[in-house]
Amino acid sequence: MLIDAGRTDAANALFDQLLSKVPPNLAPWTRAALLTRRAVSAWRLRRIPLALELAAEGWTDIDIEHPRGSDAADTLGRLGYLLEGIGHRHAATEALRVAVSVARAGDDVEVCAHALQNLGGMLNFRACELPPERALPVSAEAKALLEEGLALVDGGRVHLALLAAHAASLAGVGDLPAAEEAARRTIELAEGNRWACSVGNWVLSRVRRAQGSTAAAVEHAKAALADAEAVNDTSLVQRYSTDLADTCREAGDHAGEAEALRRTLAARATAVETLQEGLAQALEQRRVAIRAQRLATAAQEAAERDPLTGLANRLGLERAAPHILAHAANAARTPWLIVIDIDWFKSVNDAAGHAAGDAALREIAGVLRAECRVGDLIARWAGDEFVVLLTHPGDEPSPIGPAVAERIRTAVDRHDWTTVLGAVQRPTVSIGVAAGPGPFDRLFANADAALYQAKRKGRNRVEAFDQASGAAPV
Ligand code: GH3
Ligand code: MG
Repeated sequence: MLIDAGRTDAANALFDQLLSKVPPNLAPWTRAALLTRRAVSAWRLRRIPLALELAAEGWTDIDIEHPRGSDAADTLGRLGYLLEGIGHRHAATEALRVAVSVARAGDDVEVCAHALQNLGGMLNFRACELPPERALPVSAEAKALLEEGLALVDGGRVHLALLAAHAASLAGVGDLPAAEEAARRTIELAEGNRWACSVGNWVLSRVRRAQGSTAAAVEHAKAALADAEAVNDTSLVQRYSTDLADTCREAGDHAGEAEALRRTLAARATAVETLQEGLAQALEQRRVAIRAQRLATAAQEAAERDPLTGLANRLGLERAAPHILAHAANAARTPWLIVIDIDWFKSVNDAAGHAAGDAALREIAGVLRAECRVGDLIARWAGDEFVVLLTHPGDEPSPIGPAVAERIRTAVDRHDWTTVLGAVQRPTVSIGVAAGPGPFDRLFANADAALYQAKRKGRNRVEAFDQASGAAPV
């Protein structure tokens, strides 16, 4: 109401108070309706980045495919208004038409009347830009919609807006006496609503112009324009200043025409600035969104990686393993799981210190990378325990798993440990191996059982799980 009264400062102050209050636990469409209402207010207060932010937020959690209920109609109507404001006319028409049909099916007459007013008002403006023969049916459609709306509400802000737009549609269909009467009634009921006065005077200007009273038409058009400027409605200002220029030209008032055109240009400049600001805002939001997405991806990758060795960790292995096993099954490949545990690692830590122990773990990771192929999955399972998952062509388990395991064991055994552990400590590994198919848990349990045997049998050795007996060889 304050915006329509042209009291921008008061409207801004009130709007700031209201912004801080977000009721919790709203249904998605109710939340969307609230946010888009705020977006429209922000838009009319020329707070464009805020308006876009609110509209985008309101738009995000709604199901635009299945709008239902009065809140949905309300949201779509307001989105339509915003889209019209930024010049996305096709989308605006679409949104306003859907808003009307959803509102008709809903139970809130006020929302329905408002949706009808939005659509009717927009059609009035469309008609102004069409040649007379094409304008007539559009004005007639607007008139019918606005009359439908007027039958729904009696009094109040929406009623006044309907009355004003109805006056314009009457002028559009050429019913000048009715248009004049409706426009006068609008101005009479406006009581400080400068938006309504603006529309009323614009209609009176059109009526006078059609009657050939150009001087009177100019006066009404000037009044209409002043009010439109006061309420910050750029689309009204552009329309009315263009009409004022035309009327002045008809009246031979060239100074008036030039002045009106200057105001058209000012309004266009505002519209362009608005769009530029909106575009910059949209780019910034996109940048922020992309960065957030990258951070989220990086965080997810980090969660699946062991920071000490850079290998996949247990989570990474457990996430990747089912895919690798499924792919192996489809491609007739045999999966092998190799579980590696460092022998007497506790004593390595005790003798050389924890930092040296860490360095030794990194060395082992390096050995594993060197001994495995690019496609093999190498992971640090926990502590001093590592896992390799590899696949090999053919259904028959060829002894590739034990062969790779033996290669790893030998490499560790022959590794030069002097840099990280000095001359005394020479860690070795025990390894358990099991062949697929999956699932991963069974494969792991089998390889782990084999590892246990390797430890029992004296360490620094490889044991394979015995498929046939279902138990690790003793
Ligand atoms: P075993 O031959 O039976 O495997 O003997 P072990 O001493 O290696 O015994 P176990 O595997 O149970 O112990 C693993 C040790 O690894 C325990 C802990 O001191 C050490 N460890 C685990 N995680 C880390 C780590 O991140 N850094 C270092 N430095 N040591 C670790
Ligand atoms: Mg160990």
